[in-house]
Amino acid sequence: MPSIVRVAVDLALNREFDYLVPDALRDAVQPGVRVAVPFGAREVAGWVTSVLKSSERTDLKSVARVTGERPYLSAPLLALARWIADYYCAPLENALRTMLPATVRSKGEAFREERVIEPLPKSWPRADDWDALRRRSPKQAAALERLRGAEPLSARELLAAGVSDAVLRALAARGWVRIGKRNLRRDPLFGQTLLRTEPLKLNPQQTVALDEVRAAIDADAARVLLLFGVTGSGKTEVYLQAIAHTLAAGRDAIVLVPEIALTPQTIERFRGRFGDTVAVLHSHLGDGERHDEWHRLLNGQAHIAIGARSALFAPVRRLGLIVVDEEHEPSYKQNESPRYHARDVAVMRGHFEHCPVLLGSATPALESWWNAQKGKYRLLRMPQRVDDKRMPTMRVVDMRREAEQTGRMSIFSRDLLEAMQRRLIQTEQTMLFLNRRGYATHMLCPDCGYVAQCDQCSVALVYHREAGELRCHICGAVRRAPERCPECQAPTVKFTGIGTQRIEAAVRRLLPKARVARMDADTTRGRDAHRRILNEFRSGAVDILVGTQMIAKGLDFPNVTLIGVMNADSALHLPDFRAGERTFQLLTQVAGRAGRGALPGEVIVQTCSPFHPAVQAARRMDYEGFCDQEAAMREELGYPPHGRAVCIGFRGMDEARVRAAAEAFAAALQPGLAASVQVAPPGPAPLARAKGLYRYQMLLRAPLARSMTKPLNALLNTFRWPRGVSMAVDVDAMDLM
Ligand code: ADP
Ligand code: ZN
Repeated sequence: MPSIVRVAVDLALNREFDYLVPDALRDAVQPGVRVAVPFGAREVAGWVTSVLKSSERTDLKSVARVTGERPYLSAPLLALARWIADYYCAPLENALRTMLPATVRSKGEAFREERVIEPLPKSWPRADDWDALRRRSPKQAAALERLRGAEPLSARELLAAGVSDAVLRALAARGWVRIGKRNLRRDPLFGQTLLRTEPLKLNPQQTVALDEVRAAIDADAARVLLLFGVTGSGKTEVYLQAIAHTLAAGRDAIVLVPEIALTPQTIERFRGRFGDTVAVLHSHLGDGERHDEWHRLLNGQAHIAIGARSALFAPVRRLGLIVVDEEHEPSYKQNESPRYHARDVAVMRGHFEHCPVLLGSATPALESWWNAQKGKYRLLRMPQRVDDKRMPTMRVVDMRREAEQTGRMSIFSRDLLEAMQRRLIQTEQTMLFLNRRGYATHMLCPDCGYVAQCDQCSVALVYHREAGELRCHICGAVRRAPERCPECQAPTVKFTGIGTQRIEAAVRRLLPKARVARMDADTTRGRDAHRRILNEFRSGAVDILVGTQMIAKGLDFPNVTLIGVMNADSALHLPDFRAGERTFQLLTQVAGRAGRGALPGEVIVQTCSPFHPAVQAARRMDYEGFCDQEAAMREELGYPPHGRAVCIGFRGMDEARVRAAAEAFAAALQPGLAASVQVAPPGPAPLARAKGLYRYQMLLRAPLARSMTKPLNALLNTFRWPRGVSMAVDVDAMDLM
């Protein structure tokens, strides 16, 4: 029976406070429960993190209230929160806040009740009386027929089926049904019909992989398995059967997919196999849906959580398996505090819960591949596509030579255009991929050299022709596109650089018979827009789909036989040590969209750097060769996977203050750093200004994260932060900020 508890209050103070537990709350208070406590003159919410025998303080206040019937955070999740706070140099409260959806933390959402109709067949008319009932009260008879053999049914469903409220009340009055209440479930998939699927008979490579995963599940051990399987090798089927095994062992599972791959198609595959025991957690849910799905997991009504990054913290009861699909995806990194990487935290959750973690990818992150090489992760390979479907062929077109030969820079190479024409004739489908939305990426004046730039960010504005606007893709600022140069008034402003709108327009011009659709952030704003565009494409109502990374991943369209990568260089020349890896992954993922059905696939990659190692390795489909080469290069530079990198960013309105703060911080940090830590001193970030804020950064590299995070945590607690400058620590930074 606790009498004193330690509480992390929701205030990002990075400190915990002790409180007394009043007698009335003793049964309810335990680690992981949500409480309200007095704090100064107010009352704030917080989490009980531990139960104490005594406190150093004598003037303790008392816990005011307990929220919820049971702890929202289990002991392993509390331990995980501490680990996150320490490793990612973030306040514990931020880690705790990240673990719970806002709708669960706040009192904004609660369960909603609905009426249920429970049939009481024992009191129903006997067989001989039915005819009379049908004659006298046909509606009541019909309603009873519907309820025959049924479980308690939601009144909503009966009303939707045409049974009136009056009839329901009449049935209740006669004692034939009971009208009760239960929590309404706001189901994100309400009204969708799902086809139940049965487990497929696995091929030999899947069988070997699944056996290993099953053995790890049975061993209750915190093993990490890396499933390296080409796209279409049947990884998802392995996940599904591994999860079935987990459920059969009486345990729960968590499946993480990147937000962008969290398409209805993906969710349907899991719901189709496991039905209602799947709870979906992602950012497109309504608050009520998210609240209910989360509580279904907490209450043990659902046993599989599927979602993006934050589903990792799903409150499942007895975790038996975590699956991280597309584990190389950069979107697994959260870009606000705590800046955690969901794959790495999944591995830690597995550690605290003694359960295996299954990472899957066709192009594992170099870090994961390296861990497999060192024996930390168990490597499972699935090099063949299901049914031995051939991998698509990839052709690289040198756009500089193309320009020399044709005398002009064009959007489509002759090869790609001809390949598209052929698909149209054969009624096969094409996807065109470009990682830039908008029409033109720059507006410039050829007379005076003026380039339209955002006033708040150090980037050029992007021209959106449909709206006649210039938009900043960093801060969202919008301006009307001018007809004359704002500097010299010349009427000849030009729009250069290519975005998805322009590709779409070019396809419509060059192939007027083709039915074209575009999928990017601009065309998918509505809640259902995603689904609608993909369904149109799937049904064959669209021949050519133009899109950004949204179409690069996870989609499975059997009739797509051609993929055009409009410009492979866009990712290649970013100022980031991962640029080559990203390009390789992207080309390989995109290629995986082609030839999923009976017909062979073809990929045409347009680039001005045809001999870049990442492009060539992707063309040869040589993942391991690429990794060897890339790992050797990173070793020379001391970049991950050889050691760890920490990026520290500084932001503020006043550049001089930002610089001064960065330099003061670097100077204060220096004495605490071991010789093994390499320091790149503070300087302007590659994106030097965004949303009006100047950005500086410094980079630390060292063989062990600890040698950087320990002195950082110490300094963060004591450093007197100058006004007007904020800072962010990014451990294992995925991109330089
Ligand atoms: P991946 O996740 O590796 O890209 P999928 O699991 O999506 O691959 O499998 C690709 C296709 O092959 C899917 O349509 C899937 O239903 C099918 N498939 C997977 N495993 C088998 C199997 N053992 N037998 C027949 N078809 C399979
Ligand atoms: Zn801007």
